[in-house]
Amino acid sequence: MAYTSTVLNRARARLREDKERKRAEYEDHLARAYTLRPRLREIDQALRGSSAQVAALLFRHEGDTAMELAKLRAENEALQNERQWILDEAELPDGYLDDSPVCGLCGGTGYVGSRMCECLRELCRQEQKRELAALLPTGKERFESFSLEVYPDRFYPELGTSARTLMQKNLNYCKKYAAEFQPGARSLLFSGATGLGKTFLSACIARQVAEGGHSVVYATAGKLFSDYEAVKFERAEPESLRDYRDCELLIIDDLGTEMTTQFVTAALYEIVNSRLLDRKATVISTNLNEQDLEARYGGQIASRLLGSYRVVYFLGDDIRRLRKIRQYEERSVRI
Ligand SMILES: [Zn+2]
Repeated sequence: MAYTSTVLNRARARLREDKERKRAEYEDHLARAYTLRPRLREIDQALRGSSAQVAALLFRHEGDTAMELAKLRAENEALQNERQWILDEAELPDGYLDDSPVCGLCGGTGYVGSRMCECLRELCRQEQKRELAALLPTGKERFESFSLEVYPDRFYPELGTSARTLMQKNLNYCKKYAAEFQPGARSLLFSGATGLGKTFLSACIARQVAEGGHSVVYATAGKLFSDYEAVKFERAEPESLRDYRDCELLIIDDLGTEMTTQFVTAALYEIVNSRLLDRKATVISTNLNEQDLEARYGGQIASRLLGSYRVVYFLGDDIRRLRKIRQYEERSVRI
């Protein structure tokens, strides 16, 4: 499982904050306890002194080390007991002077050896969720709320089925795709008119794949290309595009609604091609059909999209479009 640098940096910052907060709380409690019972400060000083003496003794190999050590240990124990007695007598809550690290497994570093500790992993999951919630159109997209009622259930001879049956298949496919998502999963192209649920279903996929612990970035085509432009015109660092390249699932919504320029076409080619080469999944939704895609972005991009992505058609009452799909499918079969 890999998280994008944005998510990872935020999670690490939170772990750092947790550590600092815990430290500050401990120091505050200690100061209060010392004010309340000044004897505690003397005991703590004495305890620090005795551990320094123990260390010194262990380095000195002369005299009766064992006897001196035993004496120091006894003194130490007496001090510890007195300390505990004072804490009890002052009725300070349990753990009031606890200065153990924020995570017992990794000591608050976030890593156990080279492996990410569960504490940092959990923070990554939370940050990924928060990041997506801010990006998704409504933040409420769930497969369960996808309604098939809006799709006509008339039989279309051209299609051999109804729009509703087709959408039921799409819904099942998307659910399975999200549930079984693994890095390197197939890329998808959602093609269909506005208002047929492409954005909604792609957002459902984003959410579920992210909940499965994968890095997901969701962007409208307009936002994506304006981020690329910002880097081109040096208004932003190239680093700001890293998440688009690194994430395990990139969702580009509404391709074709942006101002398509030569720069946009080149950027799109770069994204589509590099993610295919890196075997990283992308879900693109568009109002454009095959012919429009080719006319707008050129044959190279259209053939990458139509050849390597699985095309998922979204249909409503658009019979003209059905005919086109039929023709396209017949052509594909012939090829
Ligand atoms: Zn940890």
